Amino acid sequence: MAEPIERITLGYIKEMKPFNYCPFCGSMDIFFDDIKKFHCKKCAFTFYHNVAAAVAVILQYEDKVILIRRSEEPCKGKLDLPGGFADPKETVEDAGKREMEEELGIGVNNLRYLGSYPNIYEYKGVPYNTCDIFFYSEIDTLPTNFDKTEIEELVLINPLEVPDEEIAFESTKVGLRLFARSV
Ligand SMILES: [Zn+2]
Repeated sequence: MAEPIERITLGYIKEMKPFNYCPFCGSMDIFFDDIKKFHCKKCAFTFYHNVAAAVAVILQYEDKVILIRRSEEPCKGKLDLPGGFADPKETVEDAGKREMEEELGIGVNNLRYLGSYPNIYEYKGVPYNTCDIFFYSEIDTLPTNFDKTEIEELVLINPLEVPDEEIAFESTKVGLRLFARSV
């Protein structure tokens, strides 16, 4: 029996403060509200470190799904879903299709929305709060021309048999559970 989705928590939140100086005037007298707002007390520069939209796609092949083993930090060596950040002025559906082409070398249509879940993605010392948006699609041929700079290997696996400790991000566990409940 799967763990209820509500009980999955982001257990690795740590202090988020990517700025030590005001990027506008250089003052160290900056304030961070511990959520998203930076404010310089000297020049009133204000920056919102808002949530970034990220897309992950669960690709079903027969009775299994495709996971990727990450070849880069963060979470190098762990299993993840293919996907990535939405670019400025891009829909999340287009981001999902673009990422499948870039990462896996395949065209995907009929993306079906499964749900979303917050995540923290730390890249080069900067923690990004993301909203991970999960889609689902079926494919009838396995990708062979995947991006080997980002992906160590593709893993074809029953979504209910993925060991939790092998999964890169908490939100990915949620995505796989949303999928398992929808099919
Ligand atoms: Zn300033």
